[in-house]
Amino acid sequence: CWNVRNKSTEKLPQMPSVAEIIRLYGLSAQQKLSQNFLLDLNLTDKMVKMAGDLSNTTVIEVGPGPGGLTRSILKAGAKRLIVIEKDPRCLPALEVLQQAVSKQRMHIVMDDVLTVDEEECVIKASEQSREPIDFQHDQFLFLGNLPFSIGTPLLLKWLYQIERKQGLFKHGRAPMIMLLQKEVADRIGAAPGDDDFSRLSVMMQRWCDVQMGFKIPGSAFVPPPKVDTRVIKMTPRNRLKSYPDVPLEAIEHVARNVFGQRRKMLSNSIQTLGAYGSQLLENQDIILDE
Ligand code: SAM
Repeated sequence: CWNVRNKSTEKLPQMPSVAEIIRLYGLSAQQKLSQNFLLDLNLTDKMVKMAGDLSNTTVIEVGPGPGGLTRSILKAGAKRLIVIEKDPRCLPALEVLQQAVSKQRMHIVMDDVLTVDEEECVIKASEQSREPIDFQHDQFLFLGNLPFSIGTPLLLKWLYQIERKQGLFKHGRAPMIMLLQKEVADRIGAAPGDDDFSRLSVMMQRWCDVQMGFKIPGSAFVPPPKVDTRVIKMTPRNRLKSYPDVPLEAIEHVARNVFGQRRKMLSNSIQTLGAYGSQLLENQDIILDE
């Protein structure tokens, strides 16, 4: 077992390449799980670099698949890594990595990230480790090459947790570094007035600082998706800039209606919002002045 740790980067022991692992375990990509694997470890290393020093961080990786990005996270010196993967075929490939670094440092959860309780995963991992997690001082980070099919619902799940200080967000402002469909990432980061400015921009930017990262063309993946991708880092804000009392649910409802009816008069859209609409008009609007 290899477990010498250096603060910034670490060497993993000699292992089959990710392409070999895919062949060895017959991990033919399944479209229903949005499986597009990234085999170029320079790209996954570059993505992990956006996180900075990981020596005091527990990373939660979403959808590790055959483990390309997983290798980069371990190599970058993450204190602990919890991977959450839905496809049971990936388990043996992930166990190869786990054996390379020790069960103390890497924990595998076979579950659906849309419904799993990430805080519970961390507590369980802590119970299985010699060095328990210190929720006051340890940091948490979400990382993933997200399956396209669950990108938006997963981000909404986390946004609601951020707003309500639930799950892992109870313990601090855990950043989320995600590789998303470029179109979705661009919508999240768009500024007011941009063509891409949308419901997602309003909601995400209200609760998080958004940092746009580099693009990765579809051709870099196996199999290549028809669209390009972009890395994006979202860090929960310390404090909301304005209207701290307006709940996310209201903002989601308003934004869904306003952006769903772009061509109609905004006043018509607001009329369809019932109680939220009148509240919005009374309290000086929260969307229309952006
Ligand atoms: N991280 C790997 C990489 O970069 O090559 C795989 C990325 S692939 C785009 C998405 C991964 O998420 C697949 O391994 C897929 O099985 C997994 N996945 C899909 N839906 C999931 C869900 N609801 N919960 C957890 N994992 C899921």
